[in-house]
Amino acid sequence: MVDQLLLHIDGRNVPAADGGTFTVASPTTGEVLFEVSHATPADVDVAVAAARAAYLDRRWWGIPARDRARVLNRAAAILADRVDDLAREETRQIGRTLREMRAQLRRLPEWLEYFGALAATWEGTVPDFGPNHLNVVRRVPLGVAGLITPWNHPLLITMKKVAAALGAGNSIVVKPSELGPAVPLALAGILEEAGVPAGVVNVVPGLGPTTGRALSEHRGLDKLDITGGTETGRVVAANAGRNLVPVTAELGGKAPVIVFDDAPVEAAVAGALFASFIATGQTCVQGARLLVQRTIHDEVVQALVARTRALRLGDPLDPQTQIGPLVSQAQRAKVVEAVGRAQAQGATVLCGGRVPEDPGLSHGWFYEPTVIGGITPDHDLWHEEVFGPVVVVAPFDDEGDAVAKANDCPYGLAASVWGADTGRCLRTAQALDVGIVWVNDHHRVDPASPWGGTKESGLGTENGVDSFRGYTRPHSIIVSTAAQPFDWFASTQELRYS
Ligand code: NAD
Repeated sequence: MVDQLLLHIDGRNVPAADGGTFTVASPTTGEVLFEVSHATPADVDVAVAAARAAYLDRRWWGIPARDRARVLNRAAAILADRVDDLAREETRQIGRTLREMRAQLRRLPEWLEYFGALAATWEGTVPDFGPNHLNVVRRVPLGVAGLITPWNHPLLITMKKVAAALGAGNSIVVKPSELGPAVPLALAGILEEAGVPAGVVNVVPGLGPTTGRALSEHRGLDKLDITGGTETGRVVAANAGRNLVPVTAELGGKAPVIVFDDAPVEAAVAGALFASFIATGQTCVQGARLLVQRTIHDEVVQALVARTRALRLGDPLDPQTQIGPLVSQAQRAKVVEAVGRAQAQGATVLCGGRVPEDPGLSHGWFYEPTVIGGITPDHDLWHEEVFGPVVVVAPFDDEGDAVAKANDCPYGLAASVWGADTGRCLRTAQALDVGIVWVNDHHRVDPASPWGGTKESGLGTENGVDSFRGYTRPHSIIVSTAAQPFDWFASTQELRYS
């Protein structure tokens, strides 16, 4: 049966103003799962107005911060109770394996707890203003934040933004991805059940060029926070910029995985496999470029190819499945095209590189996990984000060569460095022009740890105190404490102006 999903505005589930809908189909079977109301620009107006009203009457940010924290903690507990059902829903919608979605969603209550704790303990400052004044600087919420999110971690990425925005006291309008709106919509219900007042959290599902565009162009926002592709980020940031709305943007990546010659090969290969193929390669920090020191290059590549060939593709709801389908026909077509182009430019497919022939997989958007060699910085695939189960491998000679090759990329989101010499790993980590570096690990995330990239990977960060601060602005109150009255025009004496 096809479930119906509505917009969530001002505490109510409502259809789109014009009755329009779009559908979400299973990437595994092609079956239509949801018919979703498609928010029009008029619906976005109503959602922003509801969020503005909630901000203006202070129904959320006017309550004591410790009470806001209590509500977020209650939401964390409700979410923890429902995680298994929500994980199944995520798997049905986007095709990531149930094992991955359970592991990911079980951690999400931590974001509500962390930002609740920041809300309860956040303090203003009292800068020195000289002898005659006391300056109290409060941090107050920005107002209304528009949040635009992708499909590859539908709830994780929505949660990163929502928890920080709400912890800081803002009202929000969320535009989830058209490929994965169900669980972000469920989050709105959980937050209200926990006690977030109606109007504070609004969700407007819809397509990017219509609903996303209307939100990014809206003059009623005080911040726009997007996670998505780099080209989308440019468009959205330009739209918001015209209204002087500040933007946080978490965008694309092409993370290098650097393996030095003293790394234990088995552990490094297990790490590279995890980095490359978790989420069927559809993560922004995917280890998409494996750089291996020349002396152990062939050994590492051979072991990686053997383990890649052994990965089990199948129904992502089956606990035995390791690799699910790609999210959509368009995403698979993009991967097929990029691999074909790499071959035409002279690269060699070492394994995979095909749509699987298994008739049991023919209804889904499956693609074999793929390792590609014979590639250099001249190839498109060196620089281009494919967002699929494709990793390119290349040798390097020494530390300097590894850093130069890793940094030779328009993106700067993340990287990992593998080796036994801690000094060399840390020198390398410090020389990489990226936002996040893991040493002897990959893809680890924590609500307290900043997440964001350099170059074309975006602007600003999620997680941690910087993200919370980014959802506030200073409000400065300067009080005269002078013992003598001040009357500028009554005297011709030299007076201090401030
Ligand atoms: P996308 O850019 O296609 O869509 C992201 C969101 O933007 C969706 O909600 C979409 O509807 C909306 N959108 C699309 N066009 C728009 C427009 N013209 N105006 C306003 N909104 C618009 O990205 P995707 O395919 O959903 O996600 C994959 C991309 O996201 C990859 O590039 C990946 O690297 C990136 N990503 C980055 C991070 C990070 O933390 N840096 C995390 C996850 C994904």
